Amino acid sequence: MLSTSLGWKDPMTTSPMALKGLRAKKRLLWTLLLSAFGCSGLYLYGFRILRYLEGIIPMGICPVVTTSLLTDNFTGGLQHWARPEVLTCTSWGAPVIWDSTFNPHVAKQEARRQNLTIGLTVFAVGRYLEKYLERFLDSAERYFMVGQSMVYYVFTDRPEAVPSITLGQGRLLRVEPVQGESRWQDVSMARMRTLYEALGGRLGQEADYVFCLDVDQRFTGNFGPEALADLVAQLHSWHYHWPRWLLPYERDKRSAAALSWGEGDFYYHAALFGGSVAALRKLTAHCALGLQLDRERGIEAVWHDESHLNKFFWLYKPTKVLSPEFCWDPKIGWRTEIRHPRLLWEPKEYALVRN
Ligand code: UDP
Ligand code: MN
Repeated sequence: MLSTSLGWKDPMTTSPMALKGLRAKKRLLWTLLLSAFGCSGLYLYGFRILRYLEGIIPMGICPVVTTSLLTDNFTGGLQHWARPEVLTCTSWGAPVIWDSTFNPHVAKQEARRQNLTIGLTVFAVGRYLEKYLERFLDSAERYFMVGQSMVYYVFTDRPEAVPSITLGQGRLLRVEPVQGESRWQDVSMARMRTLYEALGGRLGQEADYVFCLDVDQRFTGNFGPEALADLVAQLHSWHYHWPRWLLPYERDKRSAAALSWGEGDFYYHAALFGGSVAALRKLTAHCALGLQLDRERGIEAVWHDESHLNKFFWLYKPTKVLSPEFCWDPKIGWRTEIRHPRLLWEPKEYALVRN
C-alpha cells in the first residue's frame, strides 16, 4: 500500500474515488489558507479600506443656479468651482465652507470693520483639564481668530488649575466655575444649560459671535472669520459621506431628540457649533429643554447633547455649514478632499479621562 503518514496516496495507484477525496482535501486546505490570509488582511487593513471606499461615495453637487446666488456675509462671493469634488451648498441655500472657496483676508477685514468680538467657550471638567486644556488654548492662540478681538470662556470645576497662557492683544480669558458630575455624559449634557445662562449674562454682552467647542481637540490651521455666521454647524468627519438612513440620529420616539426615518439633512458634530448670541440662546435653550424632558422621562438620547443638537439643526437650519476640514479626526486617515485641517481631534483616551 503506497500511502504516506499524512494519508496522501500516490495518484497513479489510487482509485477515482480516492482521487476525488484527495482533490477535496486539497481544496479545503487552500480555502482554509486563503480565508486565514483574507481574515488577517481584513483585520490589519480592512478598516482603512472601508474608510477609503467610503470617501468615494459622492456627496452631491451644488446646482449651478444656486451657486451664482450664494454669497457669504463675511467672505463675499464664494468660489464653488474651486472644489467641484465636494458639496459646497445645502438644499436650503447655505454655503458649505471648504478650503479654497473663500478668501480669508476678506473675512478678516470684514470682521475688523464690524469691530466684532468673538467668544470661544470650552469645558474642562475633571481629568479633561490636565489632559487637554493647555494644548487647546495654546493652539487657539496660534490659529483661532488671529488678530481679532476675542474672549475665551473656560468652564471648569477647578478654576485654580487652569494653566496661565500668554494671550495676544485684544484677547481675554475668563474662567467660570461649574460643578463636576459623576458621569462624563452629565458633564457633556450640562453644557447646554450652562451656555444658555452664560449667553444671557456677561458672555452674551461681551461677544457678538460665539463658538462652543469640545476641549479634546487642537487647532492646526487658521480658523478665522470665514467661519462666522448667524448659525454655524459642523459636518461630522465620520459621517459626511454616509447615506441619510445610516446616520446615528436618536430614533426612539419617546426622546425629544428623535428624528424619524427620512428626517435629517446631515449629521452634525457637537464638538463645534457657533453663531450669533441670539441664535445660540435659542439653540442652547432648545437642547437644554429637550435634555430635561428626556431626563424626566428616564431616557437618554443615544449621543446625548449631540442628538438634541441634530434635532435642533433639523428644525432650524444652519446658515453656514463647515466642511470636515474644520474639525477632522486623523484616525480616519488620508483623504484628498481634506486639504487643510483646522482642528484635529485628540486621540480618545477614555480610560484616562472618563470615570
Ligand atoms: N467634558 C469634560 N469633562 C468630562 C466630560 C466631558 O470637560 O468629564 C467636556 C469636554 O470639553 C469634552 C466634552 O465635554 O471635550 C465632550 O465630551 P467628550 O469629548 O468626551 O465626548 P466625545 O467627543 O467623545 O463625544
Ligand atoms: Mn470630544
